[in-house]
Amino acid sequence: AAEEGFDVEDVEGAIEEAGHGPLPVLAVVGRPNVGKSTLVNRIIGRREAVVEDKPGVTRDRVTYEAEWSGRRFKVVDTGGWEQDVLGIDASVAAQAEYAIEAADAVVFVVDAKVGATDTDEAVVRLLRKAGKPVVLAANKVDGQSGEADAAYLWNLGLGEPHPVSALHGRGTGDMLDAVLEALPEAPAQTFGTAIGGPRRIALIGRPNVGKSSLLNKVAGEERVVVNELAGTTRDPVDELIQLGGKTWKFVDTAGIRKRVHLQQGADYYASLRTAAAVEKAEVAVVLIDATESISIQDQRIVTMAVEAGRALVLAYNKWDTLDEERRFYLEREIETELGQVAWAPRVNVSARTGRHMEKLVPAIETALEGWETRVPTGRLNAFLGELVSAHPHPVRGGKQPRILFGTQAGTKPPRFVLFASGFIEAGYRRFIERRLREEFGFEGAPIHLSVRVRE
Ligand code: GDP
Ligand code: GDP
Repeated sequence: AAEEGFDVEDVEGAIEEAGHGPLPVLAVVGRPNVGKSTLVNRIIGRREAVVEDKPGVTRDRVTYEAEWSGRRFKVVDTGGWEQDVLGIDASVAAQAEYAIEAADAVVFVVDAKVGATDTDEAVVRLLRKAGKPVVLAANKVDGQSGEADAAYLWNLGLGEPHPVSALHGRGTGDMLDAVLEALPEAPAQTFGTAIGGPRRIALIGRPNVGKSSLLNKVAGEERVVVNELAGTTRDPVDELIQLGGKTWKFVDTAGIRKRVHLQQGADYYASLRTAAAVEKAEVAVVLIDATESISIQDQRIVTMAVEAGRALVLAYNKWDTLDEERRFYLEREIETELGQVAWAPRVNVSARTGRHMEKLVPAIETALEGWETRVPTGRLNAFLGELVSAHPHPVRGGKQPRILFGTQAGTKPPRFVLFASGFIEAGYRRFIERRLREEFGFEGAPIHLSVRVRE
């Protein structure tokens, strides 16, 4: 490394950073209008997007990456949730519940100007039951005079209220210090994977693609509900299902079953649920209705899984009803709309007839294998050396940036750090990724590629 102009410590630092495992998840929950979205924006250090969204506009994006004091974590924003027919208590409780389930720690936001309401008390009960670490944010304390309002919130019994102004940033640094103390270094879900324990699958897809039909088909009578929390109506439920001679854990399957009173629930609710399931899973099986055009919603769900760094399988359902013509157009659509995930194993199934159900498990296993593949540094550099000399980076401004060496810093998903003598263009990065896949597999795995440039 040193002779290539990189400092050994820089190289080690870059590898460590790129090799980070799955990030711990922080959920921000609370009543509407207490300032959750404003606080999330503050935490992720951006002013765009979240708050500007018009009410009623579907927001699919609920998970963001954040960094504080050099530690990275994910933030789940529940601010896009609109009150539905269930009434405010039930809808706040329901959205909080999903977010809490998927989280490693929670920021509970209360409007200090208003004080604790009955709805706040209801969320406190949920938080107690879940037993996750909680940081209490007393928001809208824009100045000294608001501090007294914040102090009243000791009454909630959640410990010290942190007076903050999400809008102006006051107190948010101290609050984030408390968040870092509450957050584990790595997500509990990862620690929870005993060697040889059941692998975790999220079966996701937009409404009516056939998720519950598929689940019923594969599960038969043998489904075992493993973590039903008592007393609430919409608990996330994991089920153990025997498939291909193995036991798998299908996460958050309660979200899959139809609940009549949720039909009017906002799409946002479905997004939150999908994000929560993806966070808990190792592999996402995205179900797509092959009889309908591939939609933006399908693409967003795929993107959610990819951005979360999960292994991916694409299952095209309702194959029993496809005619020649639709098949032809479907293939074209897959190329144009989902071409960027052509690396994901694909199965064409019918939850109705059971067609190709036996291909599901091999596809899942292939994806998990790709997701866990590690290339030894020696082999990687032999490959990179040959690749770079056969296909050098185009010359830019009289200079030719070169990949000098690289290493795979992590798996699940595979993460690579490449060290280069100059800026490497996006097109060339994609080329490298493509060749990495050709050479080493990685089927079903999103690949993270970061490039460090010598100073
Ligand atoms: P959410 O529904 O909980 O996500 O709340 P929003 O983030 O959308 O905020 C609701 C309203 O409260 C908006 O008008 C914000 O500008 C305002 N707000 C949020 N944080 C603060 C704050 O710290 N101080 C004041 N004065 N207003 C705030
Ligand atoms: P979910 O909302 O994704 O859980 O979808 P459902 O499982 O409720 O299925 C939605 C509709 O599609 C129902 O009417 C199912 O009977 C139908 N469906 C599901 N799978 C298939 C399939 O493989 N073939 C056909 N023809 N219909 C299916």
